[in-house]
Amino acid sequence: MCGIAAVSGVPEAAKLVFLSLYSLQHRGQEAAGIVSVDGAGVRSRVHKGTGLVSDAFDGTDLEDMEGDLAVGHIRYSTAGGAGLHNAQPLLVRYSEGDLSLAHNGNLTNAHELRSRLVGEGALFQSTIDSEVIVHLIARSRREGVDAQIDDALSQLQGAFSLLLTVGDTLYAARDPHGFRPLVLGIKDGGVVVASETCALEILGAQYLRDIAPGEVLRIHGGEITALRPLVPNGPPAPCVFELVYFARPDSKLWGQSVDRARRSFGRQLALEQPAEADCVISVPDSANSAALGFSEASGIPFELGLIRNHYVGRTFIEPSQAGRDFKVRLKYSPVREVLAGKRVVVIDDSLVRGTTSQGLVALLREAGAKEVHFRLASPPVRNPCYYGIDMPTRGELIASRMSTDEIREHLGVDSLGYLSLEGMLESVEEAGPFCAACFSGEYPTPLADVDRGYAVATGCD
Ligand code: 5GP
Ligand code: MG
Repeated sequence: MCGIAAVSGVPEAAKLVFLSLYSLQHRGQEAAGIVSVDGAGVRSRVHKGTGLVSDAFDGTDLEDMEGDLAVGHIRYSTAGGAGLHNAQPLLVRYSEGDLSLAHNGNLTNAHELRSRLVGEGALFQSTIDSEVIVHLIARSRREGVDAQIDDALSQLQGAFSLLLTVGDTLYAARDPHGFRPLVLGIKDGGVVVASETCALEILGAQYLRDIAPGEVLRIHGGEITALRPLVPNGPPAPCVFELVYFARPDSKLWGQSVDRARRSFGRQLALEQPAEADCVISVPDSANSAALGFSEASGIPFELGLIRNHYVGRTFIEPSQAGRDFKVRLKYSPVREVLAGKRVVVIDDSLVRGTTSQGLVALLREAGAKEVHFRLASPPVRNPCYYGIDMPTRGELIASRMSTDEIREHLGVDSLGYLSLEGMLESVEEAGPFCAACFSGEYPTPLADVDRGYAVATGCD
């Protein structure tokens, strides 16, 4: 997963994008980058770095990034594919001017397109799927930039929320399924486009609307022109997991408050999977809203039983005596006064690999919890996501290998309960229908690369 943001038609655009990347930091911590375009659109500059926004940029990096157009990207960490050469935005020299690109989502036919392009002589600089988009635009035989972009985007399958600059023009597009979010705002006569509304909020920009699935916008200064929409090959299918886990609770997503969606998941979970307990605690921060919903509906008081350390860096020294669960201990700490002698309901937003949860349960037991009732505010994740969420192989997903009873035993909890798929989807019905493939196994697009035996494309994630 990744986060993207752009500002057009406002002075010091790069500094504004920089700010907005801070509020999108939860969407990725592996690398951050910004491309700025000077006033005449003659020259684009890029700065990229690894780690958090604050690691990637120091005080001087933005000084020469002048101009009223800029695009930024936040990259999510995965096991492979790290490194600066895979960071975005990409910046290339194109026949029509400098071209930069920031992509959120995973393409499902990137390998197929890449093989074809390599066969035709294209030279790739990175291993990310997003680079094929740049080549498709540059090699298009169509007349004019708009048509070349349309030609390229029409060949893509899978998930893409995209920001592109060509010279001093910005393009913003969402794939026809609309898997990943992209919102439009205005500020000081200019335009802001970002993955989530929280990135508008930090700039004091006014939210206008979501960019629609399949929509392609050309933005010059503060002027917005809608181009021909991309042809859909199925109904819109925004990702429900954005509501479950990924987006920030203060964002509005798919016309819906993320906080309200999570609370309703929690309330529904309390109805479907009740527990006799003294307190409800959340695995912070991602499950906070859902835990409040569970507490509201069950009448069991919400307590702060786990404290999350926000200052854990990405790399740390591993003491040889650290013990098995030290990574969990580094991140979470139990509040003994809340837990000792209590029957505790623990709410987490999702169970993916099961490793964190196992360590957490051990922590709670050590802190004296008498009973631990584990509740998940989403259904079992049994299927990989090919559209950008980091759930790569089926084998790594605990719910695809074990039954709920086996997982309960594996985690060492007194009871385990998931929100049902129907319950989840009904809670946010008005914003759907959704892509819920990670839960249901029903993928809304063809999976060209998977069918050809490739693993998940290394996307922006
Ligand atoms: P696990 O079951 O994999 O050990 O951990 C589940 C936890 O991971 C949940 O608390 C959930 O908030 C978080 N989670 C869910 N999806 C993702 C993801 O795509 N990336 C990361 N870093 N965490 C995730
Ligand atoms: Mg979590």
